[in-house]
Amino acid sequence: MKSSIQIFFILLLTVYAKLFAQNPSVLIITAHPDDETGFAATIYKITHDLNGKADIIVITNGEAGYKYSSIAEDIYNIQLTKEAIGREYLPSIRKKELMSGGAILGLRDYYFLDQKDTYYTLDADSVLQHVWDTTFIKRRIHQVLYSKHYDFVFTLLPTNSTHGHHKAATILALSALKDYSSPSKPIILGCTLADSTAIKPEPFVGLQKYPITAVYNELPSAQFNRNQSFGYNNKLNYSIIANLVIAEHKSQGAMQLAAGKGDIEYFWNYSINSQDSELNIKQLFDRISSTPFKQK
Ligand SMILES: [Zn+2]
Repeated sequence: MKSSIQIFFILLLTVYAKLFAQNPSVLIITAHPDDETGFAATIYKITHDLNGKADIIVITNGEAGYKYSSIAEDIYNIQLTKEAIGREYLPSIRKKELMSGGAILGLRDYYFLDQKDTYYTLDADSVLQHVWDTTFIKRRIHQVLYSKHYDFVFTLLPTNSTHGHHKAATILALSALKDYSSPSKPIILGCTLADSTAIKPEPFVGLQKYPITAVYNELPSAQFNRNQSFGYNNKLNYSIIANLVIAEHKSQGAMQLAAGKGDIEYFWNYSINSQDSELNIKQLFDRISSTPFKQK
């Protein structure tokens, strides 16, 4: 027999759970400003169409992107492609570009961890062992997780072919989540963008060297198709939103060529999540796909 206090708390928890089911809350953890563009449409759906919230932790300020800043030199009137100048000015420029794109996406809070963006590499070890302060990064992730409630954490899927910094950011996010003890622990997902013309997405089994990156299924557990149309005569779709966000990253010239490439945002379920996570992921993405574009 339950006491009235127990019943009250059960009711309170039910109301609380329903509230969050209606308003999903997401924490994005990425290596560079612009990595969020890989799952921009899903974030937009959550913040706009589902009335949810999304915050972002960015580990570096992406200053190694100075090589792609030729066009931006005129926009900002700074010789950004000169390495020393680019590395000095790009951190603040790229933060502002991220926040301009974030305003379109409806991002709420930004956490910049100001770690060094050295150079492009496929290797995650070097940055984890010699460049980033991994203790500080994990502590900051824990602080953010403790400060707010999150239902999901989004990361880039650490495929073999992706930038070592992307792999490292995801490995640290997974490691922080694994050590995070809370009854309301968020579900952490890995995302890649692929083209709908492909028969099916490339299977992913995790990085051999980092077992923490293992996933429940080789194929994604969820997806959102950016081609979902809306607006006058259904002429608009969510690729346009992703392209608008990409356009804000003006210092990253080559990034603009990514606009229009890839229309399916795929999400993998990491094995560190609880067994019942699959159902929660399915529920979220069913809602994302079935909820229409919300006109003001
Ligand atoms: Zn990146």
